[in-house]
Amino acid sequence: MRALAQSITGLELPAVEKISEEQAEDPFQILIATILSARTQDATTHAASTRLFKVARTPRTMAKLPVTQIERLIYPVSFYRYKARYLKECCDLLVSRFAGRVPSTLEELVTLPGVGRKTANLVMILGFKSVRNICVDTHVHRISNRLGWVKTALPDETEQALYRATERRWWPYLNLYLVTWGQNVCRPVYPRCGDCAIRDECPRIGVARRKS
Ligand code: SF4
Repeated sequence: MRALAQSITGLELPAVEKISEEQAEDPFQILIATILSARTQDATTHAASTRLFKVARTPRTMAKLPVTQIERLIYPVSFYRYKARYLKECCDLLVSRFAGRVPSTLEELVTLPGVGRKTANLVMILGFKSVRNICVDTHVHRISNRLGWVKTALPDETEQALYRATERRWWPYLNLYLVTWGQNVCRPVYPRCGDCAIRDECPRIGVARRKS
């Protein structure tokens, strides 16, 4: 993890981390950007979030937008029609059940429309500075298995296995380090093992083809 921390310096940050930095770690904007980021390129997520937050930056103001306007603002993120509906329902619920604030527990966050464990954990880490959560997306799942830290088939299993396999002090950083590494070096296909700072520690489990 120390080697990764050094190696990601200067690399492009993942979109939600960037938004978190730009928006003073506001839990609402982190929540919305993370919902938008699912199966969407980082640049598209960042641009769509920026357009949306220019029009509405709070649950109350976003709840007042018609779904069609949200659709127009977030297009072309993947599944923009579903996501626009989730955003609207999510903001309605934040206003009616949580007094217009993002709840600060994982258990409450996963009751919101469109919010699963990945999103909830990232909001806990970036928005509420939790040191008790690990956020697992496809990059974290893939690289943890390649490194042999875990042996799992699904991201939810990986999250639970990582709580057992890694030191607690690294939990809030695992997502940032492994997502940045996964976007730049340990890519899904043809990982750049020859350029990898941790190649001497990595058994490359399941890596069939790598970039020469
Ligand atoms: S050595 Fe290859 S498989 Fe292992 S972490 Fe580095 S890029 Fe990924």
